[in-house]
Amino acid sequence: MTSAHLDLEAEETPDVADDGVWLTCIECGEQHAPFDDVIYRCPDCDGLLEARYDEYAGFDDFEGSGVWRYAAALPFETGVSIEEGNTPLYTVPSIEDATGVADLRVKHEGMNPTGSFKDRGMTVGVKVSERLGVDRLACASTGNTSAALACYGARADTEVLVLLPAGKVAAGKVAQAALHGARILEVDGNFDDCLDVVSELADRGEAYLLNSLNPFRLEGQKTIALEILEQSKAETGEYPDRIVLPVGNAGNTAALYKSFRELVAAGDMDEDEMPAITGVQAEGAAPLVEAIQSGAESVERWEEVETRATAIRIGMPVNAPKALPGVRATGGTAVAVEDEEITAAQRELAQDGVGVEPASAASVAGLHKLREQGVVDADEQVVCLTTGHLLKDPDAAAAAGAEPVPAPADADGVLDVLGE
Ligand SMILES: *Cc1c(COP(=O)(O)O)cnc(C)c1O
Ligand SMILES: [Zn+2]
Repeated sequence: MTSAHLDLEAEETPDVADDGVWLTCIECGEQHAPFDDVIYRCPDCDGLLEARYDEYAGFDDFEGSGVWRYAAALPFETGVSIEEGNTPLYTVPSIEDATGVADLRVKHEGMNPTGSFKDRGMTVGVKVSERLGVDRLACASTGNTSAALACYGARADTEVLVLLPAGKVAAGKVAQAALHGARILEVDGNFDDCLDVVSELADRGEAYLLNSLNPFRLEGQKTIALEILEQSKAETGEYPDRIVLPVGNAGNTAALYKSFRELVAAGDMDEDEMPAITGVQAEGAAPLVEAIQSGAESVERWEEVETRATAIRIGMPVNAPKALPGVRATGGTAVAVEDEEITAAQRELAQDGVGVEPASAASVAGLHKLREQGVVDADEQVVCLTTGHLLKDPDAAAAAGAEPVPAPADADGVLDVLGE
């Protein structure tokens, strides 16, 4: 398997730990101080870092509501918060019928304050930035990260810089970043180019990076898994068998797996109870699917990417070294879907009352495909993650929905138009 140092229980608390928290390099295993210097990758080998704790929290340790219900599993007691998390787990009767999955639910992360799951990462990440005392926050973004960072940065009264791929970000997301007061730069390149640039700015000390390369963002995103598990247990008495999610930078994929490993370390989950992490990408941007299907050790960067699901229009998932082992260890898989299948799934979700942006619908489109391929059984308990709200991308929603019809301003005229 790709990365050797994912075993939480193998580690002793190091001297560099701060309040029982430290960072471990998943490639070389070196342990680093979490809040002394600003680091995003291992200074020794450039590997990805993961947060570690001297004790792992279980379900008895959680109280309250939202992301900070799970403070015992996070580096701090509280964050820069606008009440993120605690999102609904919906039943979706018509998609259950259409896919033949007897027990299907949708975890709608579009119901977070800025309309995507990115808020869960930012409430923790922006808190870390306060602790480090940095004065400018930055991210590259396909849109939702910039909306969330702009909002949480405003709340923390800290300057925010966002780099967006010009012409490839949905209107609602740019509007959010603008109103919350971020400095928005439209870069002549794709998301991966933007991330290259902002990473260099961060390395030069010009800004604190809050992309999902930042290990603390993923700590906040673990709470998606914790909520799904608690909600499923409350409603069905069991953990789900499978969680299906759209994959861009694979941050959520990595965060789900980390949450499961922590629950195993806490004694609240057996290894064979981990839900199968099942990633979905668009055909035009599917480097992680390629690696899973070919059994490769690592993901190869796609230079050219295209899909109407702009939130997952990403050619190099930075968290792949954490995500690939997670998909494999949980018995999951990854699948690519066409844009038309994504739009069909977006309409289907809307019919069940769940309004999502295109990337989110990829999860349901992927479930359809895996049912057709016989990979997912009818008797599995499945949760699909929908990552962002319908209003994020009003153009895609309008294009997928019905055309408005002009009508006169009187009742008879309206009935005429209706053909009644
Ligand atoms: C960021 C985002 C994704 C991708 O999530 P990763 O954790 O980067 O894989 C998917 N959908 C939406 C709506 C997003 O905003
Ligand atoms: Zn290292």
